[in-house]
Amino acid sequence: MELSKLHIKFLPGVGEKRAALLREELGVESYEDMIYHVPYKYIDRSRVYKIAELNSQLPYIQIKARIRDLQTVGEGKARRMTAIAYDETGSVELVWFKGLKYLAGQFRPEQDYLIFGQPSEFNRRLNLVHPEIDNFEKSSPLLVGFQAVYATTDKMKKAFLNSKAISKIQATILKQANGDIPETLPAWFIRQHRLIYLHEALYNIHFPQSPEMLRQAQYRLKFEELFYIQLNILKLKYKRKAYFQGHPFKTVGHYFNAFYNDHLPFPLTEAQKRVVREIRKDCGSGKQMNRLLQGDVGSGKTLVAVLCMLIALDNCYQTCLMAPTEILATQHYETIRNMLAPLGITVALLTGSTRKKEREEIHQDLNDGSLQILIGTHALLEDVVNFRNVGLVIIDEQHRFGVAQRAKLWQKNATPPHVLVMTATPIPRTLAMTLYGDLDVSVIDELPPGRKPVTTWHAYDGKRAEVLRFVETELKKGRQAYVVYPLISESEKLDFRNLEEGYAQINDYFQPRGYRTGIVHGKLKPAEKDEEMRRFATGKTQILVATTVIEVGVNVPNASIMVIESAERFGLSQLHQLRGRVGRGADQSYCILMTSYKLSNESRKRIETMTATNDGFEIAEADLKLRGPGDIEGTQQSGLTCNLKVANLGKDTLILNEASRVANEILEQDPDLQQEENQIFATQIKRLFKTKITWRYIS
Ligand code: ADP
Ligand code: MG
Repeated sequence: MELSKLHIKFLPGVGEKRAALLREELGVESYEDMIYHVPYKYIDRSRVYKIAELNSQLPYIQIKARIRDLQTVGEGKARRMTAIAYDETGSVELVWFKGLKYLAGQFRPEQDYLIFGQPSEFNRRLNLVHPEIDNFEKSSPLLVGFQAVYATTDKMKKAFLNSKAISKIQATILKQANGDIPETLPAWFIRQHRLIYLHEALYNIHFPQSPEMLRQAQYRLKFEELFYIQLNILKLKYKRKAYFQGHPFKTVGHYFNAFYNDHLPFPLTEAQKRVVREIRKDCGSGKQMNRLLQGDVGSGKTLVAVLCMLIALDNCYQTCLMAPTEILATQHYETIRNMLAPLGITVALLTGSTRKKEREEIHQDLNDGSLQILIGTHALLEDVVNFRNVGLVIIDEQHRFGVAQRAKLWQKNATPPHVLVMTATPIPRTLAMTLYGDLDVSVIDELPPGRKPVTTWHAYDGKRAEVLRFVETELKKGRQAYVVYPLISESEKLDFRNLEEGYAQINDYFQPRGYRTGIVHGKLKPAEKDEEMRRFATGKTQILVATTVIEVGVNVPNASIMVIESAERFGLSQLHQLRGRVGRGADQSYCILMTSYKLSNESRKRIETMTATNDGFEIAEADLKLRGPGDIEGTQQSGLTCNLKVANLGKDTLILNEASRVANEILEQDPDLQQEENQIFATQIKRLFKTKITWRYIS
C-alpha cells in the first residue's frame, strides 16, 4: 500500500474537522505524515516501581503510593504546591506550579494512588513535577510494557485529539497497511547493516513489542533518516568538487608578504596559521571554495579574514566582507582600514545609512576595479552593487544571514567567488554535518595567549545591591561594565519598560558616585547608537546599559564586567555570545547572571552550564541537548532549521557518524547514484528533498 498518497481525512475516526486540526497543529496531511509522527516518549508500564528504586535517570514511571502534606509554598512567581508521596520503601516530593486551585482537597489520606511522572532532582532531592495521579483501584495498573506518548497541542486536546486518540489512529493505519509498507532501503543494504524492515520498525515505534524491538525500531528509523540527509548533502559536495571551477589563487604575493612580515599586529596563534594554510590551499586548487570557519568568540577570526583577503588581492581579485549589523560592519571597517593603511589598499564601507552620493562613488569604484575591499551589511546584496571581479566573499557571524541572501550574492558572478563563512557560534559537530555537510570546515580551537577565562556567577534578583557594589569595585579600578537587558522583540512594551527602569536604577546608584552611563537599544537611530557605542569605547562612559544589540562582535577590551538581567530568558548561545564581549583585555573579567528565584529545569541547566564552562563547543553541545526536539509536550519548535522526525542530533551522534561513513562509501563508488543497486537511494532522495535545490551550493 502507498501510504503517502492517502489523505488522513479518509481514515476511519478522523474526518474533515480533525484532519484540518492535524494539518494546522502538526503539519500532518497524509497517512505517511501521520505514521512518522512518532512518540516523543514512552512510559514504562511494564511494572510499578517502589519509591526507593527511583532515580533521576529513569524515564516516565509509575508508582503506587499514598499522599500527605499537600501545601502551598513560596511567594509570587515561585509559588507552588507540594505534597509527599510515600510507600513502605520511602517518600518522594510532588510539585505543581500550575493549576494550584484545582488541587486543594484532592487527595484522601487512606487512598492508594497510581502516580505517573519522571523523577527529577532539585536541591539534591528527588521529586516528580506535575505528576499524573489516578485512583489506584479504579485504574489498576496496566502492565503493558512501553506505552507511547505523542506530542499534542492544547487545541488538539480540546478536540479530544489527545495522545490516546493519536495512538488509536496509528493503530488503524497500521492495521490497514497490514504489514505491507513499501521498503525505502535496498534489501542488500538492510542485510549489510542488520536493520529491521520498515513495516516492522514503524509497528514497533508505535507499539513496542519489547524493549529490544523498540530499540531496533528506533535504530532503523534514525539511521535511515540520518543516512538520507547525509547522502543528499554529500552528493552535492561530490558534485561541486567534480563540476565547479573556482578562481585559482595561484600566488601569495606582495600584499600578503608585506603585511605578514611588517605589519602583523601580533604573532598568529598556531590555530590561526593552520586555518590560513587550509584556506590558501583550498583557494589555490582551481575549485571553488565553500568553507565554514568556526572559532569561538575572541579567537581572532578577523585577522584570518584579513589574511585571506590579501591573498585575493595578490591575485588581482576584489573581495568583500559582510557583517550582520551596522555596528559590526563599521567596527570591521575601522579595524581593517587601519591595519591595511600602510599598504595603500582601498577599503570602503557600505551600509544602509551610507549617503547616496557616497554610495554612487562606491558603485563606480567597484565597477572600474579601483576599490579593492568592500565591507558592509545587507546593503551589499543590493543588485546595483556590481563588482568588477570579486574573488572571495567572507560572511561574518553567519547565523544571522539567511540562505537566500547568500544565494543572491552567489549570482553576482559567472564564476562563483570563493566563500568563507565565519561563525562565532560553535556548532556541534553533528549539527554541522547535517546542516553544512557539503561545506569544508576549519576550526580555530585556540584563544590568543594571555586571555584569562571569564569568571561567571549566578545571582538571584534579591542580591542586586551586592552585585552593584561589586560592579563599583571594578569601576574603581578603571574598568568598564555592560548591563544587558532582554529585549527579544523590539516591540515588547514590557521589556522596554524594564530596560528603562533598570537604566534609571543604574543611574541612581552610579551617577552620584561620579560615573557616567550610556544606553543602546534597537529603537535608537543608527547614528545615536553609534555615538553611544563610541562614547563607551573611548571611555567617556563607564557603564553601558544595553539590549542584545551588543551581542555580536563588539570589541571594547577595557570592559571587564557584564551583568545580564533576566538571564533565564536568554538562550545558551546568546548568553555565550554576550559573555564574549568581556574577557577581551588582560584583566580578569566577570559575568554575572541575574535571575528570578523561579527557574524552570531547563533555565537552571542553562545557568549551570554557563557557570561551569567557557568552552563554546561544550556550550553548543549542551544547548543542542536542551533544545533538541525536547521532552516538552506541545508543538516542538527546537529552533533547528532541519526538522528531524525521529533522530535527535543531541543524542544520536554515533548513529550519525555511521550514517555519514556509509553515505560516503556509497558515493565514492557511485557519485551520481546511477548503479542499479542504488536506485532506491536515488528515488528516495528525489522524494525527500525535492523542494531544496541550488541554494545549497553556497551554504
Ligand atoms: P572573533 O573571532 O570573535 O571575531 P576577533 O577577530 O575580534 O575575534 O579578535 C578578538 C581580539 O583578539 C581582537 O582584539 C584581536 O585584535 C585579538 N587577536 C586576534 N588574533 C590575535 C593573536 N594572534 N594574538 C593576540 N591577539 C589577537
Ligand atoms: Mg568577529
